[in-house]
Amino acid sequence: MEKVYKTSSASETQKLGETFAKTLQRGDFLALYGNLGAGKTTFVQGLAKGLGVANRIISPTFVIIRSYGLGIMNSGSESKFYHVDLYRLRGEEDIEATGLLEIIQEQQSILAVEWPEKLKSLLPKKRYDITFSSVKEDERSITIIQRQE
Ligand code: ADP
Ligand code: MG
Repeated sequence: MEKVYKTSSASETQKLGETFAKTLQRGDFLALYGNLGAGKTTFVQGLAKGLGVANRIISPTFVIIRSYGLGIMNSGSESKFYHVDLYRLRGEEDIEATGLLEIIQEQQSILAVEWPEKLKSLLPKKRYDITFSSVKEDERSITIIQRQE
């Protein structure tokens, strides 16, 4: 299933993220592709809003991983929304140091990852591939593909 969207402002991209968030389930993994400035973080701001995250989303470029609480599940475990930016990551050894592999295993959390190509073979097979590209100054093309295991 592939869907293509066009947005003509940052707020439209946020709105798309907000709407898309309503279709997500715990355990979902979102791979966000696209050049710097293509709109990945802007989309994540909308996702967070749609998921009910209160905090303002800031780029995790220096921290790599930021987590936001989504509440406690019936199981007693905490459900989180993770925003991950792997731009500064170098090798697979670096990935182990971030703790990201453990986070990917969390069944109750939702992950949105910028620069997911850095995960290579560690990229989950069941995921959404969301690709951002700049068309013009304020225009972006956003393609969402749902991939199954
Ligand atoms: P990335 O995370 O992909 O590097 P950001 O979301 O941080 O990109 O930045 C996107 C930049 O482009 C922001 O400055 C935003 O205001 C601007 N922009 C202009 N038009 C759009 C649009 N249609 N969608 C998303 N961002 C847009
Ligand atoms: Mg970004």
